[in-house]
Amino acid sequence: MKALAGGYARARDVAHALDLLAEADGMGRVLAGGQSLIAAMNMRLSTGDMLVDISRIEALRGVTTEGDSLRIGALTRHAEIGTDPLVARHAPLLVQAVHHIAHAAIRNRGTIGGSLAHADPAAEFPACVLALGGTMHLQGPDGARSVAADDFFVDIFETAIAPGEILTAITLPLAEAGERHVLIETARRSGDYALAGLCLVKRAAGHRLSAFSVGPRPVLAVAAMSRLDAGDHAGAVQALRDELDPPSDTQASAAYRRHLAGVLLPRALHQLEGETA
Ligand SMILES: Cc1cc2nc3c(=O)[nH]c(=O)nc-3n(C[C@H](O)[C@H](O)[C@H](O)COP(=O)(O)OP(=O)(O)OC[C@H]3O[C@@H](n4cnc5c(N)ncnc54)[C@H](O)[C@@H]3O)c2cc1C
Repeated sequence: MKALAGGYARARDVAHALDLLAEADGMGRVLAGGQSLIAAMNMRLSTGDMLVDISRIEALRGVTTEGDSLRIGALTRHAEIGTDPLVARHAPLLVQAVHHIAHAAIRNRGTIGGSLAHADPAAEFPACVLALGGTMHLQGPDGARSVAADDFFVDIFETAIAPGEILTAITLPLAEAGERHVLIETARRSGDYALAGLCLVKRAAGHRLSAFSVGPRPVLAVAAMSRLDAGDHAGAVQALRDELDPPSDTQASAAYRRHLAGVLLPRALHQLEGETA
């Protein structure tokens, strides 16, 4: 099956993209790498949309540091994140994530902004920005605004992006000296979406732990984080399992996903401790 023909326009810059979205009167869809949107259109899960192609807007691409933040343009591709020296130094969790995302062809076209805006609960980047305490920067008809990762992921495939808005960039705190990151997941085959996965960050102030593919959106596991801060690893495993409410589907049962998350946490801690040696 192929996508139903809708309208298409290529935006020159962000202002032009916002105008095109406004003119589309609610039918506009931002097109970035197309790796999720075009697949959905081909399956007729999304039809009749006016595609506003932002993929050539250079201002939305690239990685920089700004004060104590790492700024990643929304159009930065997965493959670029995987090889960027600033990302490797200041947010190595994202580099780990790239190795788990799909296959080379998808990583060469898919963008971090597209992944975050799509908000697949099994995707790696949303859980990474939650664990890292990131901020999403949006531009819309009423100007710019920023949304903390904690408030950005609303439900399955639903975010705080309002109609007519574009995600322009993501900022993350620069990793402090000695900060350590681990992303761990289990998937049926390499490149498949995870059955369950965890992002674990250790900072001087304490642990940050997020889980993905265990509910309608990534989960910040606050009870498990406080048990980890107290040095109670067994308690953290139990707390993590208690605070997850995963779905059952054709891939795995809820009970299996909850169990798996608890199995992955000690492995993540082992990796984290291995890095200190
Ligand atoms: C076979 C396959 C396997 C995959 N496996 C994985 C995996 O294991 N892990 C994983 O994380 N992902 C996986 N993906 C998804 C992939 O990472 C996509 O690239 C990503 O989810 C979407 O990025 P994109 O740039 O292609 O966005 P698009 O497909 O262009 O857009 C996706 C959605 O986000 C919106 N959007 C895009 N950019 C913006 C923006 N800047 N502002 C506002 N809205 C925007 C679009 O309107 C659309 O609704 C897989 C995809 C495929 C096809």
